[in-house]
Amino acid sequence: MRTSAKLQPFGNTIFSEMTRLAQEHQAINLGQGFPDFEGPPSIIEAAVDALRSGHNQYARSAGVSPLVEAIADQRRSLHDLAYDPLTEVGVYTGCTEGLMAAMLGLLDPGDEVVMFEPVYDSYPACVAMAQAHPRYVPLRFPDFEVDFDRLRASITDHTKLILINTPHNPTGKVFTRAELEGIAAVCLEHDLIALTDEVYEHLTYDGRAHVPLAALPGMRTRTLSLSSTGKTYSFTGWKIGWATGPRDLIAAAQAAHQFITFATATPLQHATAFALRELGPAFFESLRAEYTVRRDRLLGSLRAAGLHAPTPQGAYFVLAEFGDRFDGDDVAFARHLTTTVGVAAIPPSFFYPTNPEEGRRLIRFAFCKRLETLDAAIERLAQL
Ligand code: PMP
Ligand code: GLN
Repeated sequence: MRTSAKLQPFGNTIFSEMTRLAQEHQAINLGQGFPDFEGPPSIIEAAVDALRSGHNQYARSAGVSPLVEAIADQRRSLHDLAYDPLTEVGVYTGCTEGLMAAMLGLLDPGDEVVMFEPVYDSYPACVAMAQAHPRYVPLRFPDFEVDFDRLRASITDHTKLILINTPHNPTGKVFTRAELEGIAAVCLEHDLIALTDEVYEHLTYDGRAHVPLAALPGMRTRTLSLSSTGKTYSFTGWKIGWATGPRDLIAAAQAAHQFITFATATPLQHATAFALRELGPAFFESLRAEYTVRRDRLLGSLRAAGLHAPTPQGAYFVLAEFGDRFDGDDVAFARHLTTTVGVAAIPPSFFYPTNPEEGRRLIRFAFCKRLETLDAAIERLAQL
């Protein structure tokens, strides 16, 4: 084994493992979160146009002008947050690289990062690569409410950063304004930087609003907010991500980004600029309506099969408790579902680094699929 000691604990990602297993067994893949449908044709046309009009050399390292301008304009029009496109916006190869660049740029060895558990799998690996230490605050099934006593207890003299993902993968939780205000108060009291992963910002259901932490009083100057094209426009393979934040936080992430990838795919940045300019609130509304139908269709069938599935408030995952429907842990259940039932899902214990037991009775399904795909999966799941 030549992998560094830093990375050895993380192995292969569970998403790659389950997609491989799904392909091997021709299972319907409700595991890894990627749509099985295309994003808007007009955005694809914009990408083709960009390829044909000479946008094929290195981009400006922090992002091409039309894109950073479109990002700043959208933040202003949706949330009344003003950012200077040239110094307060950064573009990365997906939110994944944005997170890595931010952590490498902001953290020194020994710093501590507070995160909520269950946690998206790339965060602990980023913290490890930055030689910092993770601290976890549990969000408990099925309500996933923030425990402020635990949050306060997790802060030490070494805490530099708190990382929040809302809407949240894998729980479907949308942090409430009151919770975000409580988190903001902790950040202000302890002089913490907030890093927010908002890749599901437009996927909130039942009239819930997405509240960016940066929009709360006192938070704009200490929050780096990340998002990307993958979920909103259904192009997970494009890997165009971005951050908005105050100049010093953007500069820190840029210090790392310039040496990780330097710049990201130029034509796709131009197409993303088109998407942000042309497909705004009306598009987000129809996206939410379509996802609500998919969510409810899957939820109904999981409940009919006897699983305890709380209603996701946002994102595109259902995290369900399987109870006595299966005699084994989440990994065995995910394998059984994939190889025998023919529906791949994700075993959530991988999202619980300090308390995997919490995840062993749970299973995560993605509903970013065509209704026909969901119906075919539902037919198979009825065997449960
Ligand atoms: N953050 C979260 C919470 C995610 O679920 C995902 C992927 N689905 C990402 C980040 C990765 O985003 P990107 O594809 O833009 O790198
Ligand atoms: N974010 C996606 C999910 O949660 C997976 C992305 C990946 O495969 N790294 O399913």
